[in-house]
Amino acid sequence: MGRQLRLQGFEIVPFDEPADIVVINTCSVTERADRECRQLVRRALRRSPGAFVAVVGCYAQLQPQQIASIEGVDIVLGTTEKFDFLSYIGDAKKRGEPTIAVSCIGDAHDARHASSIGFEDRTRAFLKVQDGCDYSCSFCTIPMARGKSRSVDVDTVLSDARQAADAGYREIVLTGVNVGDYGDERTPDLLGLLRSLIRVDGIERIRISSIEPNLLTDELLEFWFTEPKLCRHWHVPLQSGSDVILRGMRRRYPRDLYRSRIERIRNTVPNAGIGADVIVGFPGETEELFRETYDFVLDLPVTYLHVFSYSERPNTQAATSPYHVLPAEKAERSERLRSLGLRKRRQFHESLVGSAVSVLFENQDDDAQWNGLSGEYVRVLVHGPADLSGTVRPVRIELAETEYCRGVLQ
Ligand code: SF4
Repeated sequence: MGRQLRLQGFEIVPFDEPADIVVINTCSVTERADRECRQLVRRALRRSPGAFVAVVGCYAQLQPQQIASIEGVDIVLGTTEKFDFLSYIGDAKKRGEPTIAVSCIGDAHDARHASSIGFEDRTRAFLKVQDGCDYSCSFCTIPMARGKSRSVDVDTVLSDARQAADAGYREIVLTGVNVGDYGDERTPDLLGLLRSLIRVDGIERIRISSIEPNLLTDELLEFWFTEPKLCRHWHVPLQSGSDVILRGMRRRYPRDLYRSRIERIRNTVPNAGIGADVIVGFPGETEELFRETYDFVLDLPVTYLHVFSYSERPNTQAATSPYHVLPAEKAERSERLRSLGLRKRRQFHESLVGSAVSVLFENQDDDAQWNGLSGEYVRVLVHGPADLSGTVRPVRIELAETEYCRGVLQ
């Protein structure tokens, strides 16, 4: 949307600066989406009373009437319509009655709408290659908001990657709702896509934002281990270390499968960065079952955690459970797991001291320190006089902190 607007001559300004058009792209994951959306609309109109306000995305798809009732909203666009944003805003003049354009998500088969490139700083380009999800995890509203799994055809992805390379980006990050599910009868699977992408000149690193453990096949892993352009970084959602809870969540793997995938990675790539998402407080999670998750994660060779407290979503199977966990217990479990995650991150950073990593540099702070991300997904700081922005350079790690490492250029 930002790119479409720029091409029309608009300037993109930070959210709290005066603007002619305000776009609020909503998420359906947070249970406070409605309240947050109202607050954002009010905040935007305080700053720019005459602004045209568009609310788009997943929450708009799921609750369009609710959003249209928020005072000051001019247009509500669903998951598919937001990609044709410009054709809906017209002259961008405030309307008395909000317009709602939200089609049935079951009709969203057009993968063209899944493709987009997002640019971060001058270094990493985010290529959205897939949208929607065919899984049916019992806590998740994403399939309702984003529809069936669909994949951007390989030629479009390759052309986006070339565009990123021509613009000077050295790393591309493949994103989507369920990236590992990439591919259909017209497009190859993720492995086939990667085989094509590594041949794009100018792209030095390819990162996969996240992949479900059941989709980490041996064949895919073999390729990943041997192909130097693929980052030594795996982000693999776990959600729970208890088979009872995994079944209740309708996840597609038992914990032993998860462990075997992660151990295979660690045994083959000793310095791999490995992240996991975990949900605490899922309905029916007793202290004993939480302890199973905690102990499971404690033993796993993961290097960082993203911990979420279970959030009840309307129209999901999990929300109908009578066995809800008290908020205070969720908060306490979340805290325990977060501090375990920080310990693991620190241990990983300490294990890197003395070794060399390859860093894609982003920017320099006031102390003339450059910072960037290593292939293993570690933030690295170095002192360097030259302009390192957008370059990939080898760095020897000398000092480990919890949030980052310090090193010297080699
Ligand atoms: S795989 Fe992810 S997006 Fe798909 S239903 Fe499960 S949690 Fe939701």
